[in-house]
Amino acid sequence: MNCKVCQSSLPNLLLDPKAPENAKAWLHLESCPACAADLQALQSTVELLDTWQAPEPSPYFDQKLAVRIREAQQEPPAGWFERLVISLRLNTGRQFRPAMAAALALVLVVGGGTLADLSGFPSGPQHDQASATINDLQILDKNDQALQTMDQLLQDDTPNDDTTITPAS
Ligand SMILES: [Zn+2]
Repeated sequence: MNCKVCQSSLPNLLLDPKAPENAKAWLHLESCPACAADLQALQSTVELLDTWQAPEPSPYFDQKLAVRIREAQQEPPAGWFERLVISLRLNTGRQFRPAMAAALALVLVVGGGTLADLSGFPSGPQHDQASATINDLQILDKNDQALQTMDQLLQDDTPNDDTTITPAS
């Protein structure tokens, strides 16, 4: 019953019945009821598909979608950890590498001072913590001095700015 002689050419018979390369298949169909039945079934399937119409979206689909998009845009942005987890889940390619590099750089910046101190004073954990704290205080002091210097520079600049502005007005 199951004839495989012209199974692959049956769609071609429907799409382009008068093509010369289909002549052999048509000849076979005349003597093979199984293939003729297959062609008939395929034809009725195609005709059924022709009658099928895509359903129309519900009347307020566009408005509802716009509201959903606006709500999503107005939601508070995810925290950096949430975003990192999402990016780790979704991105396995190129986008993942800059994020990982940034995270590593952050770890180095935060932990760098403490690690340097640990290597400099291997006497004990309490000493290391104390020296790390002192180191942090020294850095803060240096930063404070730098800020004060900048403030002085800005204060020195402002009178000059005022003198240049006042003649104009
Ligand atoms: Zn056949």
